[in-house]
Amino acid sequence: MIERKQANHGMIAAVDIGGTKIAVGMIDNHGSVLSHLESPTDPDRGYQNALDRVTGMLREAAGTAQCEIAGIGIGSTGPVDPLTGEFGNVNFFPSWQGENPVRDLENRLRVSVAMENDADAAALGEAVWGAGKNKRRLIYVTVGTGIGAGLVFDGELYRGVDQAHPEIGHHMVDSSGPPCGCGFHGCWESLAAGPAMVEWVRAHAPAEYPELSTLTAKRICQRARTGDALALQAVEHEVHYLGLGLANLITLFAPDAIVLGGSLMKSSDLFLPGIRNLIPRCCKYVPVEKTELALASLGEDANLIGAARVWHHRFAGKGNSRG
Ligand SMILES: [Zn+2]
Repeated sequence: MIERKQANHGMIAAVDIGGTKIAVGMIDNHGSVLSHLESPTDPDRGYQNALDRVTGMLREAAGTAQCEIAGIGIGSTGPVDPLTGEFGNVNFFPSWQGENPVRDLENRLRVSVAMENDADAAALGEAVWGAGKNKRRLIYVTVGTGIGAGLVFDGELYRGVDQAHPEIGHHMVDSSGPPCGCGFHGCWESLAAGPAMVEWVRAHAPAEYPELSTLTAKRICQRARTGDALALQAVEHEVHYLGLGLANLITLFAPDAIVLGGSLMKSSDLFLPGIRNLIPRCCKYVPVEKTELALASLGEDANLIGAARVWHHRFAGKGNSRG
């Protein structure tokens, strides 16, 4: 017992702030989740209310895991400023713009806190504790309601000018493609994220097609498995556009690995064979056969585990940044 208590004495707490829920947990030094709590994001109740709930959940998570909080890592839906800790104009909670959970949690819990965009957080987690382990040049791509990506090169998170997070989901794949939330047309996300599959089916389905108003990408995948012709075409369309974007990343970066996560990858068996077939035809001038295409291995808690890694990456020094 004493040994266990000592082992858990100081652990990193993780906070994953998403559009619909906020998850909090204690993560050990091997990336295992010791405790896990969730609350709806509920942005309309205001930032202070969310901060109070996060603080309460952090204390409860530490209590459940029988350890003290040694530091806090946050992964949040963006845009966020990783250096100041401020929220930018986030789609899901615009009224929180300018609020600073890093500063506020530091003041409340008296430990060091670091925050990154959630795709960057998950990329860091996969790079050290997941499918990207020992890959020098790693790109993590999450495909769900949007497409996000994080680049980890030589153990360091790639940042652009002014510490910007590159917006790979908004690289243009087809200029005649559908409108994107960013105001442009044919961004990768607008062609290959889950809602794009739904929109494609709606645009091509006869009026009597079942469940049109409540359709989801998950449902389309289920229908494809039963042999539904339109759903199978939607899968083919997804393979094409998801594959083109991945091929672009391989041509641009020639990475050791691309790790794929997000809700759509729960149906990865429908997409990966076609994507593996497409990619070599698009990437003639890089050693594409050496780029591994792998599925994320940290599962449902990838963002939460990655959030803990944000703290390690920022504060634990280079010697530890690759675990
Ligand atoms: Zn866009």
